[in-house]
Amino acid sequence: MTTGGAVAAADLGRVLPHEHVFINEMIEDRAGGLLNDAGVAELELAALVRAGGGTLVELTTAELTAGAAPDPRGLYGGPAASGFPEDHTRSAANVAAIAALADQTGIRIVLGTGHYRDPYLAADLDRRSIDETAADIVRDLVEGFPGTDVRAGIIGEVGADKWFVSDREERSIRAAGRAHLATGATVTTHASKWPVGGDVLDILQAEGVPPYRIITGHCSTIDIPEYHLDLARRGTWLQFDTIRGGSAPIVDRWVRQIMALVRAGYLDRVLLSHDVCVKSHLAVNGGCGYAYLFEQFLPLLGRAGLDEGELEQLVTSNPQRAICN
Ligand SMILES: [Zn+2]
Repeated sequence: MTTGGAVAAADLGRVLPHEHVFINEMIEDRAGGLLNDAGVAELELAALVRAGGGTLVELTTAELTAGAAPDPRGLYGGPAASGFPEDHTRSAANVAAIAALADQTGIRIVLGTGHYRDPYLAADLDRRSIDETAADIVRDLVEGFPGTDVRAGIIGEVGADKWFVSDREERSIRAAGRAHLATGATVTTHASKWPVGGDVLDILQAEGVPPYRIITGHCSTIDIPEYHLDLARRGTWLQFDTIRGGSAPIVDRWVRQIMALVRAGYLDRVLLSHDVCVKSHLAVNGGCGYAYLFEQFLPLLGRAGLDEGELEQLVTSNPQRAICN
């Protein structure tokens, strides 16, 4: 389900399964954590189209969208005092701005719904039942985001900030799981500083979500081979989604992580993306932009031993299978 309606999996082309276009994470990054410039976003997405990109999955959830729209009049058009939008989902301004960019640039965009992680989660999550939170996620997937005619296509990103899952995060993750059961939508998760992806997986599986409908995100930031192998054996998708270039040792590490999984027989579990989310990631600011993966990183995996078909699988049929019901 894209901002422009339903598209068959095979027609999605090359897919970036974990990105952000308009996002407000200024709680953690005061200087760089706001992406809300439509002109810049249009340039960045046009570069993705030129690089052969077909579809971008935009995982900015409710609490990350306050102010994350190019029209400043949309900034405070809904957020409650807590910073949590009244509809418990993305602001309509954020959704409309992203949908307009998809139309302008020709890139297909799939929108996520649900709730991110601490310290962004609002107290509303404790005051409302898990089923109420799940019902809002289902509404976004089935009816559309309130105030728009655009439907969500995936649940997430949802996850844990630290080395444990907090109570509030657990409620959000359980709601995501229940929304999956009602809709079949894939759940995509966040665990970036500690190897907590397996704990998130435990909760989703306890709710009844099959592991192959779960994408465990940010595997690229946790350099523990056994963590990766354990997740692969459990049957979840492993997403290496902070592939943003940089120094040779860092880039080599990602190649090594991915090739280790390929050699262990798990090529068909691996996903790749950039997770563009702060200003320094944008190509106009000297960052990776949305095209680095296709233009620069895939050739490195080719040199490490993957053939053309395997490289294409990583960015085409793997993510198509991961995000489509
Ligand atoms: Zn992200």
